Amino acid sequence: MNNNILLRHLEPYRDESLASYLVRTAEKNYIELNCVREKINVRKSKFLREFNYIKDHKLLERISQLVSIDSEILIQMTLNKYEYLSDLNNEGVDKYFFEEYVMDTKFSKYCPICLREKEYHMINWQLRDIEICLEHQVKLIQFCSKCGRNIEIHTVVNRECDCKNSLIEGEVEYVTYKELIDYQSRMYSLLESIRNVLY
Ligand SMILES: [Zn+2]
Ligand SMILES: [Zn+2]
Repeated sequence: MNNNILLRHLEPYRDESLASYLVRTAEKNYIELNCVREKINVRKSKFLREFNYIKDHKLLERISQLVSIDSEILIQMTLNKYEYLSDLNNEGVDKYFFEEYVMDTKFSKYCPICLREKEYHMINWQLRDIEICLEHQVKLIQFCSKCGRNIEIHTVVNRECDCKNSLIEGEVEYVTYKELIDYQSRMYSLLESIRNVLY
């Protein structure tokens, strides 16, 4: 038996990020996340941090083999798919621009209500222009309300900041400003249209 294939397969959510999916897959297989890390041969310092923007295609292949999902589908769970966004609007826009202005590879925002209901990290929460959750009409949260730290992907997936503050309890800020809601709806539609082009 190939030791690098996980036996229990888990379906990713439609808008789930790769890091989030790997955490849930480890849980479903009753193995430590560290064990997943070793199987795909990633150093500790590199694991899950900046994991939703993959620069090493071989890594993607190893993950693909481990979870038995085609790498083309895995790409849809990363920020890589939005490289298309920069190509779409600006010919020859460079990667620096993309990482600086379009997406945040290190940190993330989150919707506390989504997280309470669904327990996974959504890839769109790492896009700089996405500021609200359209479904719940609340402002996405960017910093821990207790220690002020930037929210990272692993803290969203754990639903708890490193300072032990729960991310799903506490205040939510509802958005009533119509212009912002309209603008964000257009952004979400744009992302959806890109998704449809790619699939
Ligand atoms: Zn939400
Ligand atoms: Zn904190």
